[in-house]
This record gives sequence, C-alpha cells and structure tokens, in this order.
Amino acid sequence: MTGGQTNEALARHVIRASESCTDWMKGYGVRFQPSLGGTLHLGRTNAFFLGGGKALVNTYYQAAERLGVNILYEAEAERLVFDGTRFDHALVNINGSLRKFSARAVVVASGGFESNQAWALKRPGGQCRATS
Ligand SMILES: Cc1cc2nc3c(=O)[nH]c(=O)nc-3n(C[C@H](O)[C@H](O)[C@H](O)COP(=O)(O)OP(=O)(O)OC[C@H]3O[C@@H](n4cnc5c(N)ncnc54)[C@H](O)[C@@H]3O)c2cc1C
Repeated sequence: MTGGQTNEALARHVIRASESCTDWMKGYGVRFQPSLGGTLHLGRTNAFFLGGGKALVNTYYQAAERLGVNILYEAEAERLVFDGTRFDHALVNINGSLRKFSARAVVVASGGFESNQAWALKRPGGQCRATS
C-alpha cells in the first residue's frame, strides 16, 4: 500500500501492539463476535465488531461522553498554533466563524487519505487503480 514509504519501527509497533488492542476496546464497551466459519479461517487474524463499524464508533462516543468529553460536529481545525514546541491553541471553523480553543495538549487524529482515491493515486509507488 505504501510503495515502500513506511516507518518500519512504527509499523512493527502497530502489529505487535494490535493484539492487546481488543482488551483495551472491550474495556470501553466494544463487543466482538466470532468470525464466520467456512473456508476463510479469519478467526486467527481478524476481529469482528458486533454491529460493525457504526456500533464501534457509537460505543466510543458513549465512552467519551461518560468521561466528560464534549464533541463538536462540523468543526474543522484550521490551524494549530504552537509556542515554540508547546501546543498553545487551535483555531476551529464552526459555521464559518473561527473559534480559539486553548489547551495544554492536543491529540491530532485526523486520519489518513486511504478513502481518497485521487490522493492515493498520487503517492509514490501508488498501486491503487481507478475502477470506474
Ligand atoms: C473503504 C475502506 C474500508 C475499510 N475497511 C476496514 C475494515 O474492514 N477493518 C479495519 O480495521 N479498517 C478498515 N479500514 C481502515 C479504517 O477505516 C481506518 O484505518 C480508520 O478509520 C482510521 O481511523 P482514524 O481514527 O485514524 O481516522 P479516520 O477514521 O479517518 O477519522 C479521522 C477524522 O478526523 C476528521 N478530520 C480530518 N481533518 C480534520 C480537521 N482539520 N478538523 C476536524 N476534523 C478533521 C475526519 O473528518 C474524520 O472524521 C477501511 C478503510 C476504507 C477507506
């Protein structure tokens, strides 16, 4: 997928740590179901969420709410402002107006671009093919 442009140490860490992820997820209420029987034998390598991805995300939202996390929808972080190497605030576009959120730390979890076919095709060594 990456055409060799991979941080190997990080990739190995993700692979090694993935086994313990399911316990962490269960701790926040995620439920798993056994893989389907048959010829694929996915049970050894894959974990299947009960209710699929939507149930997974809803479970996380409930856990976040229990912890007192406020969730803002349609809120695009446009700028992260640092004081040297220290995070200071984020400028977030909500309904066309920029709001400032100050915090001691920021977690950036803005995802990748694997569902963006145009960007995936552009990357070096990209093997993703357009199907239509
Ligand atoms: C078609 C497809 C099928 C897949 N199938 C599977 C599967 O079966 N099993 C599996 O384990 N994985 C699957 N994956 C991979 C999985 O979906 C991703 O690895 C996972 O969603 C990544 O999670 P994430 O939280 O890092 O990022 P994301 O789920 O991408 O979440 C990032 C979020 O950040 C938001 N965001 C981005 N920029 C900003 C900004 N500036 N301000 C505010 N918000 C922002 C985005 O809107 C998004 O909601 C699939 C992916 C695709 C595309």
